[in-house]
Amino acid sequence: WQRVALLAALLGTSVALQLYNPQILRRFLDTAMGGTNTSSLPRQALLFIILALSTQILTALARYVGEQVSWTATNDLRADVAAHCLKLDLSFHKARTQGEMVERIDGDVTALSNFFSQLIIDVLSNVVLMAGVLILLFREDWRAGLAMSAFAGGAFYILAVVHGYATPIWTDWRQVIAENFGFIGEQLAGTEAIRASGATGFVMHKFYLMLNRLLRSNIRAMNTISLMWTSSLAMFTIGNAVALGIGAYLYLKGAMTAGTVYLLFSYTELLRRPMEQIRTQLQELQKAGASVDRVEELLRTESRIQDGPKGTPIPTGSLSVTLDNVGFEYDAGDPVLHNLTLDLTPGAILGLLGRTGSGKSTLARLLLRFYDPSAGEIRLGGIATTDARVADLRKRVGFVTQDVQLFVASVRDNLTFFDTTTDDAHMTAVLEELGLGPWLNSLPNGLDTELESGGGGLSAGEAQLLAFARVFLADPGLVILDEASSRLDPATETLLERAVDRLMAGRTGIIIAHRLATIQRADRILILEDGRVLEEGGRAQLAADPGSRFAHLLRTGIEEVLV
Ligand code: ATP
Ligand code: MG
Repeated sequence: WQRVALLAALLGTSVALQLYNPQILRRFLDTAMGGTNTSSLPRQALLFIILALSTQILTALARYVGEQVSWTATNDLRADVAAHCLKLDLSFHKARTQGEMVERIDGDVTALSNFFSQLIIDVLSNVVLMAGVLILLFREDWRAGLAMSAFAGGAFYILAVVHGYATPIWTDWRQVIAENFGFIGEQLAGTEAIRASGATGFVMHKFYLMLNRLLRSNIRAMNTISLMWTSSLAMFTIGNAVALGIGAYLYLKGAMTAGTVYLLFSYTELLRRPMEQIRTQLQELQKAGASVDRVEELLRTESRIQDGPKGTPIPTGSLSVTLDNVGFEYDAGDPVLHNLTLDLTPGAILGLLGRTGSGKSTLARLLLRFYDPSAGEIRLGGIATTDARVADLRKRVGFVTQDVQLFVASVRDNLTFFDTTTDDAHMTAVLEELGLGPWLNSLPNGLDTELESGGGGLSAGEAQLLAFARVFLADPGLVILDEASSRLDPATETLLERAVDRLMAGRTGIIIAHRLATIQRADRILILEDGRVLEEGGRAQLAADPGSRFAHLLRTGIEEVLV
């Protein structure tokens, strides 16, 4: 509020100076034309220059303070909204596109920041400036005041009409531009598919149609711009003519000095900016109002995943995993998992098999509490997942997903997720242990090397190993490994196998397996089909039983059956 007060003071002074400056010129003109006592002229000229300069400096200062006010006011809000969104459950995010979230977190908050930094104050100072001009004109001569008030009213009306006509055209224009970008983005992302299927001609045809729309919309938008420009120019020309006309009339009648005629003229000019700005600013105000509503709504949305009321801590060390009749559906009425029951002792490793779409990754998501089961209960170390604190639970469960998400950041930040407390020696040791030592040594800047976007420059195997290293550093009691189904070259595969051994040592493991090698280390096997348990048991027993599904899979070669 101190800065807001400072801002108001700066703008108020700047408005006062703008109103006062023509008065100096008037006195200057009258003194000069009077011919007597011209010795004060240099002083007046100097005063004018100083005040004009001060106005500029004040305006610049006001902008600076305004930006400061807006950013301090809204950065906290940005951070709050972003943190809130990160906490919201996955079903919330699934229902929204990334673009929409960007618009919510940044677009709306930016609208608010404009509102704080400029709009309120701009509108106020423009209104004050306008009122000031009209009042001062009335003070000079009521006829001049009346004429200029009538002019201002008429001009406002015409500007409003033109704006009303232009707004839908501009909205359409922005819409077409957005669609055009969307189209280009989509086609670029699909370049490979488009070329491979020989569809370039069709795509170009669609593009031409798009360009055609863009051109037409653009012409209309530009026409309205020149319409607005011309109408405002015409209006203020009329305004100037009126001012000069009245001035001349009053001057000839002896009711006004030449300096006052000049004053009248320059006040008319002063009216121009606020009148042109106020209308658009009022629209911006409305937009900001809508943004406030949307941000509020977002902040009111609560995550479906909440900390358990008791916040029961999850035991340390490797965790037992218990599924008690677990059922789950992403969308109501469309169950994906049915009646899953499982008991995994601490330190045991479960190989989870099943065709694509059978619900393996879904089960992993439930264990991490990205979603809650719609039936039954999941217990980790004997504690129901819904009783624990979410952050506590996720700290104790490590998850390596099918496609590893790497950030455009240093290797260090990619390993620790921007946590700066982990020391380098520990990180290097972990990388060495996972067999990434030679890779680390080959990097130009070691841990500080920046990774490319989307993990470019890394092989799929290396990316997986980095993800292992992340989990290793977090030291969880349960590791869930959702194996990438892509085939790896034999050398990388051996490297991965060794790393998995290290990763699983002393922890409970659930490996969603696509490869024979990983399955061989499992103590137990669970085969899912359409979200149901098809077969469950000790690996050795199942493998020895020729009638089991698992033995069948082993005989036919697991990849053919599962992938
Ligand atoms: P894969 O081996 O291909 O990774 P999966 O066993 O991991 O398959 P899941 O990803 O668990 O399979 O999917 C199980 C079922 O749930 C599928 O029928 C899938 O269509 C559906 N499903 C997965 N994610 C969602 C989601 N976010 N919303 C709605 N349905 C989903
Ligand atoms: Mg999966």
